[in-house]
Amino acid sequence: MTTAAPILVVDDDPVVRLAAMETLAAAGFAVESAASGEEALHIFATLRPALVLLDVNMDGIDGFEVCRLLRQRPDGRQVPIIMLTGLNDADSIDLAYVIGATDFITKPINWTLLKHRTRYALRAAGVLQELDQGRARLARAQRTARLAAWRWDVAADEVDRKGGLDEVLGMDVAALPPAASALLPYVLDEDRAKLADALENAARGLAYRLNYRLRSPAGVLATLFEQGEPVLDLDGRVVCVEGITQNVSEQAQTQARVRYLSFHDSLTGLANRQFFRESVPQALARARRTGTRCALVYIDLDRLKRLNDTLGHAAGDFALNEIASRIADAVRESDLLARADSGSRLVARVAGDEFTLLLADIVMPEDAEAVTKRLLEQIARPVFVDGHELWLSGSAGIALYPDHGEDADTLMKNADLAMYQAKQRGGNTLEFFSEHLTGRAHDRLTMENALRKALARDQLLLYFQPKVDGASGALLGAEALLRWQHPERGLVPPMEFIPLAEECGLIVAIGEWVIRRACEYLRNWIDAGFAAVPLAINLSAEHFRHAGLADTVRTELATWKIAPEYLCLEMTESLLVDDLEQTRATLQALKDMGLKLSLDDFGTGYSSLTYLKRFPIDELKIDRQFVQDVEAGGHDASLAQAIISLGQVLDKGLVAEGVETPRQAEFLLQHGCRSMQGYLFAKPMPAAEFTHLLSRRGDAAAQSRAA
Ligand code: C2E
Ligand code: MG
Ligand code: MG
Repeated sequence: MTTAAPILVVDDDPVVRLAAMETLAAAGFAVESAASGEEALHIFATLRPALVLLDVNMDGIDGFEVCRLLRQRPDGRQVPIIMLTGLNDADSIDLAYVIGATDFITKPINWTLLKHRTRYALRAAGVLQELDQGRARLARAQRTARLAAWRWDVAADEVDRKGGLDEVLGMDVAALPPAASALLPYVLDEDRAKLADALENAARGLAYRLNYRLRSPAGVLATLFEQGEPVLDLDGRVVCVEGITQNVSEQAQTQARVRYLSFHDSLTGLANRQFFRESVPQALARARRTGTRCALVYIDLDRLKRLNDTLGHAAGDFALNEIASRIADAVRESDLLARADSGSRLVARVAGDEFTLLLADIVMPEDAEAVTKRLLEQIARPVFVDGHELWLSGSAGIALYPDHGEDADTLMKNADLAMYQAKQRGGNTLEFFSEHLTGRAHDRLTMENALRKALARDQLLLYFQPKVDGASGALLGAEALLRWQHPERGLVPPMEFIPLAEECGLIVAIGEWVIRRACEYLRNWIDAGFAAVPLAINLSAEHFRHAGLADTVRTELATWKIAPEYLCLEMTESLLVDDLEQTRATLQALKDMGLKLSLDDFGTGYSSLTYLKRFPIDELKIDRQFVQDVEAGGHDASLAQAIISLGQVLDKGLVAEGVETPRQAEFLLQHGCRSMQGYLFAKPMPAAEFTHLLSRRGDAAAQSRAA
């Protein structure tokens, strides 16, 4: 065995020195020597020996002095020092220990003994060092954890608080009387009895763990975690209680903050949807016990979106905040507001411009009505933003417990639905949930309401289906197809909600959203350096009849800096059949702007040649029903052929929809229709996928140019 650090042998007698060195080296130790005290002191610092074997009697500085001097150095405090003494008298030995020697060996030296003593002293020093390091680590860890240990002698009622407790508590504990109860006056009133009980029980042998808060004489509040463990003697009597106290103020603050943030709306400071939903059951349980009613009120602001669009989001946020505090104030005065158990009151902002509140102790439905009416009046008062006087209003729906639902979810849904009815009546009014509204009417209203929210909450998205040259496979363009990412139903296809949107008047807003998103995608692709392709979007007949369409398109093209030939608008034949002056004007305006107009699902409607000539249509999309059976020959094949011929005669572009097989594609090519769309080439895909396709196409083009 070779120790890393050497053993330093100090003796002015060369015989002893050499013999000691021989013995220790033979035992596997690294050894260095010094012939005097001066030399030993001199080389100690560079040598950093693991142990010093030190002769007492030397000329010059003697062994006692060397030992004393070594012990004064920071690096000499721990090193084991074994004194070699010929003086077998008690005084010398005592003196050796007093000045800090670890052990002594008398001369003449028993060499075997020397070997073992040295090994033993080294081992003991190692253990001591580890213990020291452990202690230092523990102290550091305790300081970091803001933790202190203490011991309470129960019989004498004396607490030993020396283990860092003053730092942990943030007060001078040495000034306190030793009794365990001495801290109690500083503990907050709410927590004092709890701690006093715990101490009393601990004195009888019961361990405890608890949190309490303490205010120091300087006024600093600390949250503490404390654990006490009684120590029993063999007869089971409590000797003392040992414990730790930890300052957990920071953790408590963080927890409180996290809790606050996760349960409150950061803009208005009101409760959020989650907090509201979790609190409602408590209020309902209370109502059940006391046999009273509750009212869940759902309020939606009527015109906030327009405000956001015209004055910007900062103005919208300001108005929201103002309205939020009016709602909170108005219900506070009513005293009907249910409280959540945490003490906050149950008014919440559950989405952008939607608020909910829970009113407790409702006797008659009229009570809820009166409060809600007052709220709506408050909302309808003007709001001043940046010198503008704004008039907002709210629509409110009320669902009563237990009349209109027994649980939080049902009440939320029904109040929401009633709110939607109020909105349909023109807004700025309230509506109770009506129990007669069941089955289809209920489903429809729910769906309409959800669709309205889909727009506001960004649940709509566009898929893209490539339009290709059937002969070369080259990408000619794409059609944007709408999808609704419904929170519960998943991805909803357009046919399941477009008709509803048309009926309930949401289609124009949806169409405007599609136009804007399409332009935004085009802009992104152009910015990314892709060779962008024209994008076709579908607009309802309803939207084409809307006077604002041409303006909307113009504005969006300008906003996103998109050339008009990149946008193609698809319409259905029903639009043309109505043959309205307004429609023709709109189509002409769009055409003049430079947009391409396409007639979708061609052949399924009632278009006559007259319409086709009268309206400025550029392109016909042959409906997939004609494409589907062309390969079988016969009637359908000749119909498709006829439509293609018609298109050619009228000089319209032609696109075949729903091409699924190579035979269909072949047939279309043979008869002169090159543009195709269909599963044969690609299914409608998410934007990311289509973007990827565009980027790959750019790479391919670059490669072919390079080749
Ligand atoms: P559309 O404009 O005729 O769109 C073509 C429909 O055929 C798409 O259905 C597409 O997924 C599907 N399709 C494409 N290739 C094939 C194929 O090879 N085989 C079969 N079986 N089907 C194929 P999608 O996306 O469900 O759209 C249905 C309709 O919803 C559209 O018919 C269009 O009229 C309407 N729509 C889609 N997006 C919008 C929109 O943004 N606004 C309006 N107003 N209507 C839209
Ligand atoms: Mg289409
Ligand atoms: Mg179609």
